Amino acid sequence: MDPETFRAHAHELVDWMADYLAGVEARPVVPTVAPGEVAAQLGRRAPEHGEGFEAIFEDFERIIMPGMTHWNHPGWFAYFPANHSPPSILAELLTATLGAQCMSWQTSPAATELEQVVMRWLAEACGLVGMTGVIQDTASTSTLVALLTARERATLHRWGVEGAAAEGADRLVVYASAQAHSSIDKGVKLAGYGLDRLRHVPTMPDDSMDVAALDVMIAEDLARGLIPACVVATIGTTSCCGVDPIAEIGPLCARHGIWLHVDAAYAGSAALLPEHRHWFAGLEFADSYVFNPHKWLLVNFDCSAYFVRDVDALRHTFQTSPEYLRTTHDDEVVNLRDWGVQLGRRFRALKLWFVLRSYGLEGLRAMLRDHIQWAQELGDQLQAHPTFELLSPVRFGLVCLRWNDPTLNLSPDDLNAANAALLARVNATGEVYMTHTVQRGVYMIRLSVGQWQTQRAHVQRAFELLCRESKGLV
Ligand SMILES: *Cc1c(COP(=O)(O)O)cnc(C)c1O
Repeated sequence: MDPETFRAHAHELVDWMADYLAGVEARPVVPTVAPGEVAAQLGRRAPEHGEGFEAIFEDFERIIMPGMTHWNHPGWFAYFPANHSPPSILAELLTATLGAQCMSWQTSPAATELEQVVMRWLAEACGLVGMTGVIQDTASTSTLVALLTARERATLHRWGVEGAAAEGADRLVVYASAQAHSSIDKGVKLAGYGLDRLRHVPTMPDDSMDVAALDVMIAEDLARGLIPACVVATIGTTSCCGVDPIAEIGPLCARHGIWLHVDAAYAGSAALLPEHRHWFAGLEFADSYVFNPHKWLLVNFDCSAYFVRDVDALRHTFQTSPEYLRTTHDDEVVNLRDWGVQLGRRFRALKLWFVLRSYGLEGLRAMLRDHIQWAQELGDQLQAHPTFELLSPVRFGLVCLRWNDPTLNLSPDDLNAANAALLARVNATGEVYMTHTVQRGVYMIRLSVGQWQTQRAHVQRAFELLCRESKGLV
């Protein structure tokens, strides 16, 4: 494709993008395609001969678009958000255009320096003290990086050299709340601890980690000759946004020399708000911390902010120095390939920079406050409603609810089935999309407010649909 053809198609696409963003609300949030339906319309082999852009784009609209779920629909209330924003999209266009690899300072000096600067901005905006940041692709990877670094610290960096034969390698233990995200289980598997060595600490009625139970588990493991290596605490658990008490877990970890990693993948954006900082109390004890600007801070996927206190421990874990990667400036600069799993790195700092500059911290705070307020309002309405229940205090932008008409005296199983049916009905409208969780045997509908185009009216519409579709449910 020559530059002039590129220019013409790029203009068309930018118009398409602007129309999409302006009109996404008119589309059903979730597509109705059956499994295999999209694949069946695609060729069985890669084309032998190149095709024109018009034909490709026509198929994009005809085959791909009807199979897309619109995560940035204002009626998106499912899972946690993965929001984006126009400035972020523009930056991503530039990143793709530059096509740079940002593994070393030398391979794109501006990319490394911009990443260091925006991560410092972010750390300060979130009240992180004494931590250094690096952008990873996802929270899953950030947590894996933390678990690997904790493993190396606990074995005095011998595991990386001797493997499982290293002194202590077969005695390491990891602790996380029973409500911690599945990425912790995955990381524990991959980092070689073994799932049998992951202790699921019970939770309190408010979904936070039971620190007394953690204390007992650590003591028992020590008595058995095991080595507590890492505690993963969560701020904003996936089911109901429970918050582990970092200020209590931190001193316990410090006393035993245990690596404390804090996963705030979703809720971490709320650290921008002084009135929500109390959830983050104790973060000064954390050895590492992750939150995802790609969830709730208008930076499109992927952009996971990973912060670490002991940069040397991180580098020692990931560094290798093959001759073909040596550059003349290695002694004066930072090479971010040594700060994580991958060698090749995308230029992700650019979109974070565009977003921080376009909205300013005040603009981002205003958005977060709106989302939290609309979630709170909905929580109040549910509590006051005769046939709805708020099942968990509204934390951040998440509302956990169910329908329950007390005059019907339904059994727990019937209530669960009725709420699953209600969720299916509401989602079938195509106007909104919510998901569910099950806690202590109770089926809950989860409604998380966090899209950039979502307004109070959309949250209220979701409530109207819940009320309307609950009529005649049983
Ligand atoms: C979303 C989430 C994750 C996983 O995030 P990815 O970036 O998709 O890997 C991990 N932990 C928590 C608490 C989350 O909310």
